[in-house]
Amino acid sequence: MAETAGTETLGTVTEDSPVIIKVEKLNKWYGDLHVIKDVDLTVRQGEVIVVLGPSGSGKSTFIRTLNALEEFQSGTIEIDGIELTDDLKHVEEIRKETGMVFQQFNLFPHMTILKNVSLAPIWVRKWKKGKAEEIARNLLERVGIPEQADKFPGQLSGGQQQRVAIARALAMQPKIMLFDEPTSALDPEMVNEVLDVMRNLAESGMTMIVVTHEMGFARQVADRLVLFDKGEIIEMADPEAFFDHPKHERTKLFLSQIL
Ligand code: ADP
Ligand code: MG
Repeated sequence: MAETAGTETLGTVTEDSPVIIKVEKLNKWYGDLHVIKDVDLTVRQGEVIVVLGPSGSGKSTFIRTLNALEEFQSGTIEIDGIELTDDLKHVEEIRKETGMVFQQFNLFPHMTILKNVSLAPIWVRKWKKGKAEEIARNLLERVGIPEQADKFPGQLSGGQQQRVAIARALAMQPKIMLFDEPTSALDPEMVNEVLDVMRNLAESGMTMIVVTHEMGFARQVADRLVLFDKGEIIEMADPEAFFDHPKHERTKLFLSQIL
């Protein structure tokens, strides 16, 4: 495979990879507050996009809009060829294709880990319990905690719970994974175990959009970085260009505050 100097990443995306997310001129308001302003973003299959930006800049709103957790007022969103409209069938299809992992793990506290991971496929994909549980066990293996299957969330560490949340999202066999600050609620010693799982997922070819403040992860794993500020995309570039030669003053300021 041809390799372009300086752009080598862990991912599997090439210029020929099909477009899987296409956002054009997206705008969203909360009442009078214009929180997403003319945002355009095209993502190819297998690409890993890391979204950065100050608190309140619209990062969460943006990725929540992509799988219809938030409404938007103008522009278009297309996920794997399906346009996100009011049509509930489209919304359901898009939700099936996009797994989401939040800062708070949101596991069901009264259910075992195995149940947490196998529940949605049984209900939404209509899989038989046996098949769903077998896949759930494989996913727990993949995120490195097969021995936790019969425990309850409260018996696990934060890092383990977040890995369960990733397994739960993967159980629906999504084509895209959205992460909203997945390590921000974790004790520092647990951050890497979650980032490692995400890195493996990226290597396996998953398309990912990740909101994070983990700059090591961003530099190593992202194909492209996006800086949000006040609802706008200010800069979009590969990691080397973004960190070493940012074009915009606001990017330089942002980097000077966090690095
Ligand atoms: P970020 O994730 O970058 O911190 P958010 O997307 O959470 O930013 O928020 C963007 C802006 O929208 C902020 O000004 C925030 O206060 C506002 N906002 C977020 N959620 C709501 C809501 N449900 N209702 C009204 N305003 C909101
Ligand atoms: Mg946020």
